[in-house]
Amino acid sequence: MAATYAKAKEYMDKVVSRLQQYFPEGFIPLHSDKLSDARNVFVIENQTAFKMHISKWYNQFFKISVGEELSDEELVEICPGFTTPKGLNKRMLYVQEDAEDGTLVHEFLHWLQHPNFYPTFYITHAKGSPVLEGVTEYFTRQVYSGVDRLHHYDRYYFNIVRGLAGQLITEQQIAAVAFKGTPVPSALTDLF
Ligand SMILES: [Zn+2]
Repeated sequence: MAATYAKAKEYMDKVVSRLQQYFPEGFIPLHSDKLSDARNVFVIENQTAFKMHISKWYNQFFKISVGEELSDEELVEICPGFTTPKGLNKRMLYVQEDAEDGTLVHEFLHWLQHPNFYPTFYITHAKGSPVLEGVTEYFTRQVYSGVDRLHHYDRYYFNIVRGLAGQLITEQQIAAVAFKGTPVPSALTDLF
């Protein structure tokens, strides 16, 4: 299996069709140029090029939230893709060429997220990283039912599932947090 731009576009369309009910008013027309071609959003690249990009962004940005010193080799090993923490219209998704399909879905969900959630909540809240990944992984698995998901996301995902099952949070609520940038309720952070 290899990641391709054609496949990325297919998943972009699937995500949009399942979740556009939750997007802010006018979101699709506003971003229709970007959404028309996966190359406007994704950079699918070989290990050497990916290593250069993830190393730069990890040291500039992600390290603060992850809280670990990781070598370039470790980053390439554990991370199939990432989303640059820029404004929505300038975000790019860097993905390794051997990334699984689920990674394309997961990273595209980060692309769609409101800046209040990513990067602001992610970088400023103590539980920013787990909550962001839990919400992202929840929507990933709503759209994509493959079995290739990274197991280190499981516990974040199941926190969300538990919250929904116990009616502590609703899908509408977490979608508003993710896509409209509404404040993250304590009912959500309390799950983590
Ligand atoms: Zn993620």
